[in-house]
Amino acid sequence: MSSAYASASPAAVASEPARWRCPECGWSYDEAQGDRDEGFAPNTRLESFPDDWSCPDCGVRDKRDFERDPEAHTACISNE
Ligand SMILES: [Zn+2]
Repeated sequence: MSSAYASASPAAVASEPARWRCPECGWSYDEAQGDRDEGFAPNTRLESFPDDWSCPDCGVRDKRDFERDPEAHTACISNE
């Protein structure tokens, strides 16, 4: 595979866009793409969602319950 990092910005690579998944229903959110249905522009971070936001699919999970999707294009992988 070729490097996914070819065009990484040299300045701050601290917070790459991540993907998040609802542990309840599997709904996923890609920070890089945003979510048009929810009104989130591309590069909107999950952490910047309103505090009262909940999963649009099942509605039972808040953003703090979401799990980081390991399939995502993340830099640091924390294996157990
Ligand atoms: Zn859900």
